Amino acid sequence: MDKSRYDVIIIGAGPGGLTCAMYIARAGLTPLVLERGGPGGQMLATELIENYPGFPDNVTGTELAEKLVEHAKRWGAEVAYGDVKEFCARGEDNAICVQTAAGEQLTCRALVLATGAAPRKVGFKGEEEFIGRGVSYCALCDGNFYRGRDVCVVGGGDSAVEEAVYLSNIAKSITVIHRREQLRAKKVAQDAAMARDNISFRWNSEVEEVFGTQFVEGVRVKNNKTGEQSEIPCDGIFFYVGIVPATSYAPDFIERDELGFIKTDMKMQTSSPGIYAVGDVRRPMGRQVATAVGDGADAAIAIQHYLLEYPW
Ligand code: NAP
Repeated sequence: MDKSRYDVIIIGAGPGGLTCAMYIARAGLTPLVLERGGPGGQMLATELIENYPGFPDNVTGTELAEKLVEHAKRWGAEVAYGDVKEFCARGEDNAICVQTAAGEQLTCRALVLATGAAPRKVGFKGEEEFIGRGVSYCALCDGNFYRGRDVCVVGGGDSAVEEAVYLSNIAKSITVIHRREQLRAKKVAQDAAMARDNISFRWNSEVEEVFGTQFVEGVRVKNNKTGEQSEIPCDGIFFYVGIVPATSYAPDFIERDELGFIKTDMKMQTSSPGIYAVGDVRRPMGRQVATAVGDGADAAIAIQHYLLEYPW
């Protein structure tokens, strides 16, 4: 078999990419999954997944990632290390070429972008400087460092509010700093946060600076209604101000929406024929493992039809 030629190349080994690979392999086609980190994507930063159907007793992110890799490989999918730098549009021979940072040239008939998204960094003063020394983007990963201590959470979306609730079982106090006086998060998450005695809110407040010496000692905020500045002493600060899709390797001919997420149709096909996108990179409504898995299955089924029409 030509090891540079695959029916389908999938970039990213998160739940969407791995599900797509499993379906493609099971259909007797040759999928290659390229991943530049550990297989599992954002699941690796999730301690317990409580809402993945079929696991009533929960499953860890790592465990589910391993199972998804095992399942895809069991049907013959190849999962390999690869940092994709760019790819081309479908050529006259129906082939799409993929180039990795290591200089490999691969070709496929259909390509799937499954590279997910990452927490947004705003560039608040001190944000970069104190990463790992009090600034974090993952309560599940770093929350335990703040057992019995005071922390702040920045943002008002589902992530900020859910993670504040998670932290309320670990930290002594949680101050949620939000730039408006209304949360964006779902009501169920808001209700849970409001019910916690150790969660308080700083409304209409914007972060001006994270400060400290060796570690974070506090955050300086400004009330955007009154202009009043104040300091909130804390040991850690968790930023949840949105997510950014990982698309730097995707050429401009792949259409994005106004936030940079890849646009797809109902079949998960992008603006370029034969190129599909699944999971968080295409702005799903839920950003759940279950929704990524659904995208992966949908794309794989659509690709099987597409490949009948566009053979090598
Ligand atoms: P999000 O919904 O985009 O919320 C980002 C929050 O950060 C907003 O409250 C926003 O304020 C604030 N923000 C943005 N830029 C800021 C800045 N420069 N300074 C201060 N605050 C800033 O992001 P998310 O919470 O990460 O969620 C992303 C998506 O995943 C959403 O669709 C969400 O529903 C979904 N999600 C779902 C679940 C779940 O279903 N369990 C869990 C987590 C996430 P404004 O409100 O003023 O814009």
